[in-house]
Amino acid sequence: MMARWECDHCGFLAWAADRDEMREVTGSHLLAHVPEAVTRSDFRTNWDCPYCNTEKTVYDADGAVSEFKTHLHEHVADRIVDDAHVADRFGWTGAVRIDAPVDSDDADALRAHFHGHADLVIAVTLDPERFVRLVDDRLDAWPRRTVVVSTEEYPFDAEAEIGVDDGSIEIVEIDPRLGPDELGETVSRIIDVNHAAGDVLSLEVSVFHEIVSSFDVRTACAFVRMLSARIDDSGGALQLYVDGDADPNVSTAMNFLDDDIDLALTPADGRFIRRV
Ligand SMILES: [Zn+2]
Ligand SMILES: [Zn+2]
Repeated sequence: MMARWECDHCGFLAWAADRDEMREVTGSHLLAHVPEAVTRSDFRTNWDCPYCNTEKTVYDADGAVSEFKTHLHEHVADRIVDDAHVADRFGWTGAVRIDAPVDSDDADALRAHFHGHADLVIAVTLDPERFVRLVDDRLDAWPRRTVVVSTEEYPFDAEAEIGVDDGSIEIVEIDPRLGPDELGETVSRIIDVNHAAGDVLSLEVSVFHEIVSSFDVRTACAFVRMLSARIDDSGGALQLYVDGDADPNVSTAMNFLDDDIDLALTPADGRFIRRV
């Protein structure tokens, strides 16, 4: 779980590991709202808090700014929420877009955040081995049930060191010639078979780039809408890992999907920031 803070002045929303980490986020963000509160003259720096009229003048410019950020942080410290999960924001039923290179540490931080709180994890990925290693390394315990859907096979025997309980993980190998419709149907069936009442479901789609490039933007959007409707029926958090910067077609598709996405996040340095 994480600490969450929402700015009163704009739509900015951030999650950080804990309150201490959040201190870095709040001060800088609040300062950006009131740049005129810091002035420099005669080698001295002055800050004048617009919220309480506390004022200070010092020679050390960097020190002044950092002191002011700490001061601003104190104004909002009691509004930081502890024990927050990103999916609380949409009640664990909805679609979240994660803007980061698909195989990056930043994306992995969100994978761990979601999968670590789920009973049933379904991952559609090109790299099942990487996914299994991530869950094994990053999560305190394996989810009750994990299903990996991939066109690539997973070398179970070679991975004896992975601490998966027998039967808690299943690899579903699919034909690479299958279209998004069949893939969506496969995922839907996996939910039918594995989702027990009360299970928290975390569904990761890390193949959106491939779907867009193998088919077209319209087909890729239809695929996401189909999964998103499926999630609305059964509950669960659908995560789309996308890197619009790497592919203009993916960026176009995400623009079309804007209304279908409940939350868009940019992960960086273990923090998650809502994109506005
Ligand atoms: Zn703000
Ligand atoms: Zn103040």
